Amino acid sequence: MSTAQLKTAHASWEQPTGLFINNEWVNGVDGKTFEVVNPADETVITSVAEATEKDVDIAVAAARKAFEGAWRKETPENRGKLLRKLADLMEANIDKLAACESLDNGKAITMAKGDVGMAAATLRYYGGWADKIEGKVVDTTPDTFNYIKKEPIGVCGQIIPWNFPILMWAWKIGPAVAAGNTVVLKTAEQTPLSALIAANLIKEAGFPPGVINIISGFGKVAGAAISAHMDVDKVAFTGSTVVGRTIMKAAAGSNLKKVTLELGGKSPNLVFEDADIDNAISWVNFGIFFNHGQCCCAGSRIYVQESIYDKFVQRFKERAAKNVVGDPFDANTFQGPQVSQVQFDRIMSYIDAGKTAGATVEIGGKRKGEKGYFIEPTIFSNVSEDMKIMQEEIFGPVCSIAKFKNKEDAIRLGNATTYGLAAAVHTSNLNTAIEVSNALRAGTVWVNTYNTLHHQLPFGGFKESGIGRELGEAALDNYLQTKTVSIRLGDALFG
Ligand code: NAP
Ligand code: MG
Repeated sequence: MSTAQLKTAHASWEQPTGLFINNEWVNGVDGKTFEVVNPADETVITSVAEATEKDVDIAVAAARKAFEGAWRKETPENRGKLLRKLADLMEANIDKLAACESLDNGKAITMAKGDVGMAAATLRYYGGWADKIEGKVVDTTPDTFNYIKKEPIGVCGQIIPWNFPILMWAWKIGPAVAAGNTVVLKTAEQTPLSALIAANLIKEAGFPPGVINIISGFGKVAGAAISAHMDVDKVAFTGSTVVGRTIMKAAAGSNLKKVTLELGGKSPNLVFEDADIDNAISWVNFGIFFNHGQCCCAGSRIYVQESIYDKFVQRFKERAAKNVVGDPFDANTFQGPQVSQVQFDRIMSYIDAGKTAGATVEIGGKRKGEKGYFIEPTIFSNVSEDMKIMQEEIFGPVCSIAKFKNKEDAIRLGNATTYGLAAAVHTSNLNTAIEVSNALRAGTVWVNTYNTLHHQLPFGGFKESGIGRELGEAALDNYLQTKTVSIRLGDALFG
């Protein structure tokens, strides 16, 4: 098996670099590899095997065999036990997994540990669901016995992004496997490493071969092969809206596989004059700058009621200036580098677009340092709704702040986007909180908080932010299909 010896200040480990198919480590059929870069210093960490269409075929065949064979025969109770065992193993390996995540993605080590903890909690939660998936008996006529079953869909292709590599891995695998499906998961080209460590834990937990297959590779090759595959029954994707559309087209053009999409956002964060200002500033700051702004639900459009606007901007600037940007392995760091040169360039081009359009840079607006993809926390004011920085997902530490007059105005501005992933309201008035939450067209609305996702609560998009829901009981629906069995008890109806 190919491995690399990796080391950070606090952990060292043997890093698998192959493709994990059928519980074995293999090289790609074509023997291709690609480099993995540390975004904090732009050095190459290692190289990993690249899956092509041929490897996708092999992984799908392994997942199909497991689905029709060992996994189908496994009891729900055992599926649950295996997921919980995997959760335990992830917790036991938290230092290694978190160090790997910080090295590969650049995220601050304290946040990386949080991600591993949440990934384990998600797997454990879905382990609990495995033996609680139930059907129904429905009475229609006296001579009929009808039951409705929930069945797994089959082989699921899963394509994940780089912003929360191990967490997205768990969000995807947990419900799919709990429901009795098998999986071929492709990680993001920028961040393949933590998923490969976790793949070893899949084997150690005792999952039968072929149930969970993990491949590294490129979206245009391996991702496209999964989405267009004739023997993949379902594809689940998290990433950009543009790629989400491509995946849906590929599903439509192949076997009409089921599709769930968790896409981008341009989420509004609404601060009313009666909000607790200290609290609101903390959450607005966390809402946009957490994970370096690389969150699909980032609160990137901040609207503040006009009576407190000037004070709020001043206080928010002071707060953002205190965010520690730097070495991901420093325990005090809040914001590390952006994930890649491509993302760095994209964000800097949005900052330029904001400046050119005449918006005011209140704070930041520049690269930080000369090595690594660090960007200063950036706040734009004097923005108008038609500006590119107000309409498009920037996916970096960049936000815009503007005023609103009253509740109606706040709701109108909050909904002035093609996206609908998340939104937040800051107020001390219960009526305002509920009225505005009900009026916002978003899959999640936070009140007096932000980014506080929990594995028990569904998460996903209205409008162009997606199809289906992650987390909670709702995510199981993405991985189950309904079967009706209708039994005739009486004599034949027509003689
Ligand atoms: P992306 O291209 O949408 O990547 C997400 C995943 O889809 C990756 O695994 C990617 O593979 C794969 N992919 C790409 N093209 C594909 C195709 N034609 N068929 C199947 N799979 C494909 O996102 P990105 O380019 O990394 O980032 C661009 C923007 O997307 C960001 O700036 C941000 O706005 C948004 N984004 C959103 C989220 C989210 O959580 N909703 C996460 C990441 C990015 P590769 O690894 O080869 O790209
Ligand atoms: Mg990409």
